[in-house]
Amino acid sequence: MLELKNICTYYGNIQALHDISLKIEEGDIITLIGANGAGKSTTLMSISGIIPPRTGEILFKGQPIHNLSPDKIVALGICQVPEGRHIFPDLTVAENLDMGAFLRKDKEQTTKDLDYIYDLFPILKDRRNQPGGNLSGGEQQMLAISRALMAKPQLLLLDEPSMGLAPLVTRQIFDIIKKINREHNTTIFLVEQNANLALKVADRGYVLETGRITLHDKASTLLADEDVQKAYLGI
Ligand code: ATP
Repeated sequence: MLELKNICTYYGNIQALHDISLKIEEGDIITLIGANGAGKSTTLMSISGIIPPRTGEILFKGQPIHNLSPDKIVALGICQVPEGRHIFPDLTVAENLDMGAFLRKDKEQTTKDLDYIYDLFPILKDRRNQPGGNLSGGEQQMLAISRALMAKPQLLLLDEPSMGLAPLVTRQIFDIIKKINREHNTTIFLVEQNANLALKVADRGYVLETGRITLHDKASTLLADEDVQKAYLGI
């Protein structure tokens, strides 16, 4: 579904990504793990066109997207939930969800998707008339994921959904990520510092170190890898 071929991304003169190549097959959950500053968010922002790569190629279903603007990339079916969530705090929960469906014209299916989201996160239904900014951190993460789902993405890019959340809430969010993948037929690219949880839900994983992919394998193999355990799982 998505292929990155030797992408190099820069902030001015600083090179953040070095020759990143990776593949995401349709229906998979793929995770990218790595320490602070490894380049995880930059990888997602390169895919979504916010910080486009200077060299290399990004192909979505075989079509080059690395020269497209972010809105065109969203319209193709790639949607990012940014780190720190960035919901609209003064809009209600329902209005935040409406914003996610901004580009859609299929009203009937949009209403069905809203019902699906309210089933997935009943708390959002209960709070639908409250400002998004009044929600707890975990609820705001649920809202950010839901707002992205309202765009009906084929590929969902999640940037550190566990950030700042209590372990119980994190587990709940990860259960839902799996459910969205299975039931809503959404391919997921998950960037995480919580390598343990990410590798448990993912099919395959990539390890990023200072802007370079150093390992990739089945998630279960990475979980059992001694170097990964020492560096990322605290074992
Ligand atoms: P974290 O887990 O802390 O969010 P990350 O793996 O997502 O880290 P990035 O945010 O992608 O890492 O950062 C990769 C590198 O690019 C880091 O060295 C960072 O300092 C640098 N960087 C990120 N944003 C900018 C920017 N706007 N200007 C200059 N350098 C940046």
